[in-house]
Amino acid sequence: MSATIISGKDIAAQIREELKKEVAEMKEKGVVPGLVTILVGKNPASISYVTGKQKTAHEIGFNSIQDDQPDDLAEADLLKLVEKYNKDTKIHGILVQLPLPKHIDEKKVLNAIDPDKDVDGFHPVNVGRLMIGGNEAKFLPCTPAGIQELIVRAGFETAGAEVVVVGRSNIVGKPIANIMLQKGKGANATVTIVHTGTKNLEEHCKRADILIVAAGVPGLVKPEWIKPGACVIDVGVNRVGEKKSEKTGKMVAILRGDVDFDAAKEIAGAITPVPGGVGPMTITMLMKNTVKSAKIHAGMV
Ligand code: NAP
Repeated sequence: MSATIISGKDIAAQIREELKKEVAEMKEKGVVPGLVTILVGKNPASISYVTGKQKTAHEIGFNSIQDDQPDDLAEADLLKLVEKYNKDTKIHGILVQLPLPKHIDEKKVLNAIDPDKDVDGFHPVNVGRLMIGGNEAKFLPCTPAGIQELIVRAGFETAGAEVVVVGRSNIVGKPIANIMLQKGKGANATVTIVHTGTKNLEEHCKRADILIVAAGVPGLVKPEWIKPGACVIDVGVNRVGEKKSEKTGKMVAILRGDVDFDAAKEIAGAITPVPGGVGPMTITMLMKNTVKSAKIHAGMV
């Protein structure tokens, strides 16, 4: 039997609708979530990411500010800007779009963001809060948080499940492994992380009730490595070529995941497609974190 396709596009749209309602209710109580996205320079990919975030924030009803800065902005001036938003009571989420120009120390800038407004969840304080877990965890990093939502909303039981995470990056592998091992709803799993130093990758993958693959290697996970009925979350986004878009006639990238989707869907119980799986969840979880931040700042939670 063919697997259920977990549509990140549909689930993200559903969460955005829920957030719209939540924000409307907050507004009645005089609280409007505020998000600022700071863009330094004119990197086309960054402009496109920031535009997407702003568009979603507006749709949900946020007070949202796009702060464009020239690419020769001094590091000290960027730090001052971050400090200004740290103090701005109308702003609950601060996002500095990466990459920053080479003359700016990214780490220094990201660490200058108030951890209580770090809706990206990458500040060392928030990484530590995630490790501690429970009520300590404030803002989960967006892609891993989106992965957890996909698993839960697809109806997979995580408690007691064997979860295998392929990849140990700071933005996907390590945080999703940490999220899944927390004691609580949508987690409480037995987690294994595998990487390039792992012996017998295949044997680990075969044990997984929930297999999360974030390696950035197209087709790394073979269909025969998948346990029949497993939930497969393919985080990988790999450009494997180009094709002419039927809509626009322009050349567009052909994207593939880390799992051989066509064959894997005949074995897995559920699987995310690439594109349209994990990808659409990331911005949505950024919005969810901003709503949470606004509620925390307003003493509503
Ligand atoms: P990364 O920083 O390059 O980390 C990749 C991880 O996979 C590393 O830990 C690496 O192991 C492991 N790995 C690579 N090849 C492997 C192999 N042959 N066997 C076992 N492990 C292997 O990548 P990332 O930032 O986590 O991203 C991973 C993928 O997810 C990329 O395709 C990226 O584009 C995609 N992604 C998508 C989203 C989204 O959809 N929103 C967000 C983030 C990332 P070592 O540590 O041993 O080197």
